[in-house]
Amino acid sequence: MRPQSVEVLGVRVDGVTYREACEIAAALIQQGGAHQFATVNPEFVMTARRDEEFRAVLAATALNVPDGAGVVWAARRRGLNVRERVAGVDLMLKLCDWAARYRWRVFFLGAQAGVAERVAAALVLTYPGLTVAGAYAGSPRREEEMALVARVRAARPQLLFVAYGAPAQDKWLARNLPLLAPAATDGASGIVGMGVGGAFDFIAGVQKRAPDWMQRANLEWLYRLLRQPWRWRRQMALISFALAAMLESR
Ligand code: UDP
Repeated sequence: MRPQSVEVLGVRVDGVTYREACEIAAALIQQGGAHQFATVNPEFVMTARRDEEFRAVLAATALNVPDGAGVVWAARRRGLNVRERVAGVDLMLKLCDWAARYRWRVFFLGAQAGVAERVAAALVLTYPGLTVAGAYAGSPRREEEMALVARVRAARPQLLFVAYGAPAQDKWLARNLPLLAPAATDGASGIVGMGVGGAFDFIAGVQKRAPDWMQRANLEWLYRLLRQPWRWRRQMALISFALAAMLESR
C-alpha cells in the first residue's frame, strides 16, 4: 500500500497527493490498528539528523507527506515524482472533509487552551456532518500522558490531530497511538494520527496564514519569518537543509 518514496537526508518522503493521502487514511482506518502520518518539512529533516528518537519515529510512520517547498525540491531532485506539495494544515482540512463523509470520529488535541475547541466548532460548520470525538489542549508533558491517553481512548476517534509542534507531537503519537487502537475484537475500525504543528492556530485564526500568492510562490516560510521574527533561528534550518540536500548525491 505504501507509495513510491525517496530518502531525503535520511528521512523517507512519500510521493503522494492530497487525494492519495486521504485514500491511504481511509484504507488504514478500514484495516484497523494504529497508523501515524507525518508532514515532513526541512526543519523535520534537520531535527531528525541530530535526534535519533525523532529519526526512528519518522522511519516507522505509515506516511510522510512532502510538506514544505524545500522538501518537495529535494525529493524531486532525488527522483521522486512529487505532483504537489502536501501542506499539513490543508491535508488536515481534506481529512476532515473525508471524515464528515465517511463518519470518522475526529479528535483535536493540542495548541493553547480553548483553541482546539474553536477549531472543532469552525470545522463542523465547514464540513456539515463532521463528528467531533473531542477537542482538548492538554500538553505534551510526560506527567499528563496517561490522563490524555485515557481521555482520547474514551472518545474512540478514527482521526487524531495533535498540535504540539515537531518533534514533540510526533514522538507523542509514536508512544501513544498504539494504546489508542481499538481492540481487534471490537470489530471496530483503526485510527490514524497526525502531528499538525501550527495548523490549529491557523484554522482558529490565532495565526494568519500566508496569502495564496505567497504559498504558490513557495514563500510561506518568508511570511512566517516576517510575522514571527523570533523564528529566524529555527528557519536557519532551511539554509543548512538546502546546503546539505545539494551535497547529497542524487
Ligand atoms: N504547543 C502546545 N504545547 C506545547 C508546545 C506547543 O500546545 O507544549 C502548540 C502551540 O500552541 C502551537 C503548536 O503547538 O499551536 C506549534 O506551533 P508551531 O507553529 O511551533 O509549529 P510548526 O507548524 O512550526 O511545527
